[in-house]
Parts: sequence; C-alpha cells; structure tokens
Amino acid sequence: MSSCIFCAIAAGTAPADEVHRDERFVAFRDINPKAPTHLLVIPVRHVTSIAAADGLDAQERAAMPLFIAEVARRAGLEGSGYRVTTNHGPDSRQAVFHLHWHVLGGTLLSDTM
Ligand code: AMP
Repeated sequence: MSSCIFCAIAAGTAPADEVHRDERFVAFRDINPKAPTHLLVIPVRHVTSIAAADGLDAQERAAMPLFIAEVARRAGLEGSGYRVTTNHGPDSRQAVFHLHWHVLGGTLLSDTM
C-alpha cells in the first residue's frame, strides 16, 4: 500500500532501526519507545490490523507467533519476560493501520494496561 509507512519500512524505502527480518516479517525499534526495549513486528504483506488477519496466508498466520518469539529471544528478553500487544480500532488508539505487534520488555511492566 503506497501511503503506508510500515509498507515502506518493509520495502526498505523508509528508514527503520531493523533488528530482524525474514521473507514474511520485519522487526524494528519503535521510534517512541514505551519501555527500555520496544520493538514492532509487522508482516510484509499489508493488512490493516489483527481484525484483517484473514488477509494473510496460512503460512504467515502460523509463522507470526514464532517470529515474534524469535525476535524477543534475540533481544535478550526471554529470561526476564516481555509483553506482546496489538491494537485494532479507535478505542485501542491504533495509529498505524498496518498490522503490528508491540514487543515490550527490559523492565517490570505496568500491570494497569
Ligand atoms: P499503534 O498504531 O497505536 O499500535 O502504534 C503505532 C506505533 O508505531 C507507535 O508506538 C509509534 O511510535 C510507532 N511508529 C510510528 N511510525 C514509526 C516509524 N516510522 N518507525 C518506528 N516506529 C514507528
């Protein structure tokens, strides 16, 4: 999708602090981190949110949690722990309409969200 910043990051035409990539997914650092480690994981294929995940193919859907866990492992978060979240729609305050998973860690996270 031409106007989507995360599509541009996936295509390599917009800058990002990438930490991991394969043929289906890209992980990069959030520009406004909410935790000492705050990574975003996106599918290369554009779907607007988890509510549109049926727009991914079966292999992408199956591989997504494994890729997220691998990203967290590479970031050194597996032992201490981490949180994975995604937003959909106005009440969630979703701001970028390309499915992305927030991977947060590196500190004891708030229990209020
Ligand atoms: P949300 O859509 O609310 O789940 O969050 C979008 C997230 O994307 C926010 O945490 C932003 O800081 C982050 N973000 C937006 N643009 C970029 C970018 N170009 N590079 C890295 N992170 C971004």
